[in-house]
Amino acid sequence: VVGGIGYGAYDIYTKRHPIEQKPFDPTKRTVVILGSGWGAVSFLKSINTDDYNVVVVSPRNYFLFTPLLPSCTVGTIELRSIMEPLRFITRHKSRNVKFYESECTDIDPESKTISITDVSDIKGAVSNTTIPYDYLVMAVGADNQTFGMAGVREYACFLKEIWDAQKIRTRLMDCVESAGFASQTPEEVDRLLHMVVVGGGPTGVEYAAELHDFLKDDLEVWYPELADKFRITLVEALPNVLPMFSSQLIQYTESTFKQNKIEVLTKTMVKQVGDKEIKVMDANKELVSIPYGLLVWATGNCPRPLTRKLMARIKEAQTSPRGLLVDDYMRVAGAPDMYAIGDCTFSKYAPTAQVATQQGLYLASVFEHLARIEEGQNKKITPFEYSHQGSLAYIGSDKAIADLPFLNGNVSIGGVATYVFWRSVYISNMFSFRNRFLVVGDWMKSKVFGRDVSR
Ligand code: FAD
Ligand code: NAD
Repeated sequence: VVGGIGYGAYDIYTKRHPIEQKPFDPTKRTVVILGSGWGAVSFLKSINTDDYNVVVVSPRNYFLFTPLLPSCTVGTIELRSIMEPLRFITRHKSRNVKFYESECTDIDPESKTISITDVSDIKGAVSNTTIPYDYLVMAVGADNQTFGMAGVREYACFLKEIWDAQKIRTRLMDCVESAGFASQTPEEVDRLLHMVVVGGGPTGVEYAAELHDFLKDDLEVWYPELADKFRITLVEALPNVLPMFSSQLIQYTESTFKQNKIEVLTKTMVKQVGDKEIKVMDANKELVSIPYGLLVWATGNCPRPLTRKLMARIKEAQTSPRGLLVDDYMRVAGAPDMYAIGDCTFSKYAPTAQVATQQGLYLASVFEHLARIEEGQNKKITPFEYSHQGSLAYIGSDKAIADLPFLNGNVSIGGVATYVFWRSVYISNMFSFRNRFLVVGDWMKSKVFGRDVSR
């Protein structure tokens, strides 16, 4: 407790009084980090800036704690509570870290330069430029997988970024208010209040769970005339949801969803997306229309355009279409002095925050070793080894599931106690005391006052 209070007080003090930092040193090598997500930030937090000049390039000037993003779509947690400004994160470094809020649009591994574009709406005289690197760390994450299906980007909402959560929230309330509009037809009420989630991976399941809680705890109270019309459907192409969890937890999730009246359509694949309905190939191989008010698309990841462009430049070494191939030291195949971590890579591990964080930490230790080797010390760099700490997911009605490694085996647990565990794990994994404080405050606020139903 004393340690926690001490850490909190230090965190607050340094946020108000950033320490004085050393300027860039032209004799040191420059590491350019692309991204400000899980991989980039865990690397950034650990890299020793006494050894390197560090530049960060990202279109987001903050870190986003994605595991709690589904809770933001319904207002259980406020968006800003899971965002941490990058400058707060870099304030502890001994040397000033340069940050450019911009998108990297091209990488030239031969000249060791990157092209960057200012992404802000208000631009200065220069909005495109090129910067050099000695080492490049790619941590740009992944794009939303759409399989090139027409209509997905136009009509569906993704759930990856802050603006996605905002868009979902606004569309949801628009559907509810339009359904309550004077003289609305019964068919339109049914359509508008039908929320469809595509993809039964953890993103789709957690979103459906949060949506259920919001409907039950809040919307049904404030819109009693619509209460019996709300419907949630989860569409999944495989025979079950959450394939990465144990069969026991899959069953538990599916039965919890049944109790919560979330319809799960397995062996059902979305084939077409229109503005008011989707067409699916159902388990009997028949094409069926499903009208919807809100459509959330969570069918996994694919490489970003920048990653694809880089892979095309070094295509002899980059033979997988699913992401950058790296070796056990996180070195990008075919590009000298370039490293990649997290969701932009294609590796044997699932694309999770857990993997990206461990890779970021590992890579910082590689850079530490490289600096010592350059000084003449005899250091051996060992390959990256992933240590799986388990999988967790929220499934609604204050229940969560967890598959945890235990004594060379696995323990599967689910229920309300697991939900308490889920919350404590996420709180302890947050990067700052400030975020923890805000999230706990939001949980208390939504319990006491209910969630906000304003648009
Ligand atoms: P990201 O965290 O996505 O970061 C990518 C960064 O690159 C961003 O800052 C982005 O702005 C930046 N960027 C993009 N393009 C460019 C460019 N051209 N130039 C420069 N920068 C660029 N994983 C878990 O382990 N546990 C969970 O509970 C969990 N929950 C999740 C919930 C949701 C809703 C989602 C969407 C994901 C969840 N994940 C979870 C997965 C986890 O978020 C990802 O695996 C993780 O974010 C990957 O980290 P990353 O650093 O590779 O990418
Ligand atoms: P995912 O790849 O895990 O799941 C996508 C699902 O969509 C798959 O089950 C797939 O069969 C289904 N699908 C694909 N095309 C379809 C179609 N046309 N019609 C119907 N279903 C279709 O994707 P995700 O849930 O977005 O997760 C992405 C990554 O982030 C994963 O690695 C996941 O583990 C991680 N994540 C973890 C957590 C957590 O640990 N709690 C939460 C969210 C995300």
